[in-house]
Amino acid sequence: MNSFDAYKGFGIDERIIKFSDSILKDLDERFREIDSIAEFNQMKVIKAMQDNRVNAGCFAGTTGYGHDDLGRDTLEAVYASVFHTEAALVRGQITCGTHALAIALSANLLPGDEMLSPVGKPYDTLEEVIGIRDGIGSLKEYGVSYKQVELLPDGTFDYDNIRRAINEKTKLVEIQRSKGYAQRPTFSVKEIGELTMFIKQIKPDVIVMVDNCYGEFVETIEPSDVGADLIVGSLIKNPGGGLAPIGGYICGREDLVARCMNRLTAPGIGGDVGASLELNTRLYQGLFLAPTVTAGAEKGAIFAARAYETLGFNVIPSGTETRHDIIQSVELGSSEALCAFCEGIQAAAPVDSYFTPVPEPIPGYKDDVIMAAGAFVQGSSIELSADGPIRPPYAVYFQGGLTFPHAKLGIMMSMQKLLEKGLINID
Ligand SMILES: *Cc1c(COP(=O)(O)O)cnc(C)c1O
Repeated sequence: MNSFDAYKGFGIDERIIKFSDSILKDLDERFREIDSIAEFNQMKVIKAMQDNRVNAGCFAGTTGYGHDDLGRDTLEAVYASVFHTEAALVRGQITCGTHALAIALSANLLPGDEMLSPVGKPYDTLEEVIGIRDGIGSLKEYGVSYKQVELLPDGTFDYDNIRRAINEKTKLVEIQRSKGYAQRPTFSVKEIGELTMFIKQIKPDVIVMVDNCYGEFVETIEPSDVGADLIVGSLIKNPGGGLAPIGGYICGREDLVARCMNRLTAPGIGGDVGASLELNTRLYQGLFLAPTVTAGAEKGAIFAARAYETLGFNVIPSGTETRHDIIQSVELGSSEALCAFCEGIQAAAPVDSYFTPVPEPIPGYKDDVIMAAGAFVQGSSIELSADGPIRPPYAVYFQGGLTFPHAKLGIMMSMQKLLEKGLINID
């Protein structure tokens, strides 16, 4: 059996099919390492489900207030076990990753407190949450100040300036694990642990919160295993395994998570309300699938890195370095190439494949953004997707793929579009 004809059926040039095969030949060992991480994480998830006695009753939905929602409460216990934290808040009422982060920040920062980002500018959508750009209801409006320490030119932590930035007002330090829309490395859990320890030595009672988006299950340990007090992420990324249709999580120290519960709902009510509706099965089953889905996405990212690096583009991370998230950026150098790449990803989708993505303004982002995705869950970026702000160096951020073969097809289609427009050469 050969997929050659199947690829030709998608209109992919023979040169791209052969080029892709040659790239994949070298990746066997890399892929085996990823499989063994997935195996370890799969055991971690199954053990957590067993230890918390997940049973068919957990899949029943609740409505209204959602008091005594067994499925929701057990799922939170499972997340706490997986991430080795005291407590977890895992809810469909958390609308996205930004919302989860905003809850964690606003629940734990009070007027007069200061927040510090020791890793440069945080994710675009947090600018309005923090008040770096004016936002109605921002932390700034509530009297919370903000400091930021840039990374050193080589992408490492600027320990001297971080020490200087920590003062009596510093209450919470936010470390973003994944690079987001920045051209900087993603941090390993070990690096996050080192930074956390450094910060705690200077100020032991400071809260270290990690934006864990896109990092879950890429390694065998998580930031919560190396000293982070809170980790926060989106369920339509890695931990939802592609099945979660909505949601976010906040895991960490019990007192801090309790504050988040009160912020999400209301003081006094906290986590005791919040009906899970019909979500539970998808959230459990998604978490169950998350380790292997994340592995497939990571393989797609590595294939993309190797292919585009070989074609002469600057890629972050490189095709050979160890990865700490599922995001791959490729600097395409022009708006035309960025759009062509996204058209290829769209054309490979099982849903909406006949649409053409175009750049447009997106709430929370300051530049126009082009987004390609044909997903079962709208906007889900654990599904194969590519996006990028229309600004130099015209980097595309490519991520996801519920299966590796789909990710591979998407990357091949992206090369096809670039080839058709004369933007790459393949002999
Ligand atoms: C995706 C992401 C977020 C949150 O984005 P949403 O689209 O609101 O889910 C925050 N930080 C990082 C690093 C992300 O990748």
